[in-house]
Amino acid sequence: MQTTHVRVRFAPSPTGYFHVGGLRTALFNWLFARRHHGQFILRIEDTDRTRYNPAAIPDLLSSLSWLGLNWDEGPDVGGAYGPYYQSDRLELYRQYAEQLVAEGKAYRCYCSPERLEGLRKGQPGGEHSTGYDRHCRHLTAAQKAEYQAQGVQPVIRFAMPLEGVTVAEDLLRGQVTFENAQQDDLVLLKSDGFPTYHLAVVVDDHLMQISHILRGEEWLSSTPKHVQLYRAFDWPMPVMVHLPTILDPSGHGKMSKRKKQAPDGSEYLTLVHEFREAGYLPEAMVNFIALVGWSPDDKTEFMERADLVRLFDLSKVSKAAAAFSYDKLNHMNAAYIRSLGANDLAGRLQRVLLAAGYQVDFMTMLAWVPLVRERLETLEDIEELIGFSLQPIEYAAEQLIAEKLDRETAGRVLASAIEVLQRTEFEEAALEAALRSEVERLAIKARQYFGCLRTAITGKSVSPPLVGCLVVMGRAPVLERLQQAQDKLAAL
Ligand code: GLU
Ligand code: ZN
Repeated sequence: MQTTHVRVRFAPSPTGYFHVGGLRTALFNWLFARRHHGQFILRIEDTDRTRYNPAAIPDLLSSLSWLGLNWDEGPDVGGAYGPYYQSDRLELYRQYAEQLVAEGKAYRCYCSPERLEGLRKGQPGGEHSTGYDRHCRHLTAAQKAEYQAQGVQPVIRFAMPLEGVTVAEDLLRGQVTFENAQQDDLVLLKSDGFPTYHLAVVVDDHLMQISHILRGEEWLSSTPKHVQLYRAFDWPMPVMVHLPTILDPSGHGKMSKRKKQAPDGSEYLTLVHEFREAGYLPEAMVNFIALVGWSPDDKTEFMERADLVRLFDLSKVSKAAAAFSYDKLNHMNAAYIRSLGANDLAGRLQRVLLAAGYQVDFMTMLAWVPLVRERLETLEDIEELIGFSLQPIEYAAEQLIAEKLDRETAGRVLASAIEVLQRTEFEEAALEAALRSEVERLAIKARQYFGCLRTAITGKSVSPPLVGCLVVMGRAPVLERLQQAQDKLAAL
């Protein structure tokens, strides 16, 4: 598609936790860079000090690392085009803003916040979309001197062309045209010396030799400003690609950072660290997010990282907003879990349980794997599935006589199971056969026999295959639980 050397950047503002919208932008940039053997640059756009959140950068870096989205230049790794924190580049922005002032393409504006506020209020839908009346664009030398004498700290504004149109070229959307008269004389440098986003992003994308800008659709309306700035500096424009909005699962609203209620009353996850904590695999997240607004052919869904890199194609990115489907993500996550090797899965499950405060050794975890593999939608589900084996269980004695058992028969079931489990080899086929013959001897339903046993062992009415559970737990703990069940029943 293109021949220039690919250098792309992900340029988040550290205002909050890393969310799935940001992840999609990061991932598309990363895939594009890897596909074309280019560089993926991470740049922290931290010039808005009022919205700065100190938790954001550590969260971002650890989330990207968890997902395997490594950056070639940026925080921690450095690079030839640094620094990669915009707050360390203030002097550069100042120089470039001054250059435009010297060339007559930008000017100092001394207007007070009160005056600007009045303009905004007084001109709803007026001549200029955001209300600045270009008051300071043609100040005389004497007027400037007077403001300076008063000690007013000016901002630097860009002098937009007053007529005509600006045409921005978007790879997906073609030409996007904007009326210049509708564009404000935007602020480039604030009175405290910090650049605005528009100045900093253009200066950095140029100095860092960014070849393609892939960012969310919400930035499309900023593009004419950027086009004008590139023109003023006489710099070549990178290729622009605005990625489609991500919609919430209903497909109606924008997927926001704020929590929304799912139909079952729970809250939708939106932050990357939440997905991580909820037991999603990074492999599944990457595969799933890659398909939010992109598809190689409208049917291939499961693609490992190498396939994604090989197949990723900007021209197949959709223009239409794409809904985020948790069902699809869960389905995909379960499939990735099933595809993991037993040792790998056991290791991940063990880490989840250890983090939740359980004691569990690797060999035990490995023994659980065949019993739980098909039942896991997320890694976190392991706690629900085998938690009973790792801590004392609680249940009401009545649960032992579910399935229309009576107290006396339940007593016989427990006694029979104790007897069998004392003498039988602790191996699945042998236990299964021995217990089945007890079902026949007692002339009750298998459902009743195993239901009573399941409650005694797990405290629940559903569990992974019960005989398998017995084998993994081992004889002594199993017998102990059966005796506790006998005591409970006696006290009923
Ligand atoms: N700092 C902007 C953000 O937080 C980057 C926008 C862009 O990629 O130009 O999304
Ligand atoms: Zn002004």
